[in-house]
Amino acid sequence: MSSCLDLREYQDNPDMQNILGKLVSGKSGYKSVIDKTKPIAKCSQCGKILDDSWKFCPECGNRIK
Ligand SMILES: [Zn+2]
Repeated sequence: MSSCLDLREYQDNPDMQNILGKLVSGKSGYKSVIDKTKPIAKCSQCGKILDDSWKFCPECGNRIK
């Protein structure tokens, strides 16, 4: 049994992406979570990447729509 499995051939396989994401991040479904999330919101003022739950930009105080 080889431990030198070439993972590149699995990169297009969603199941394998899940497993790889889990290995890399420690979270299951890491890759698919990224794929399913909306485009990352950025503050229109300062460009800080914003969380959905935030109502105001923590960086500049800009109100998030
Ligand atoms: Zn801002």
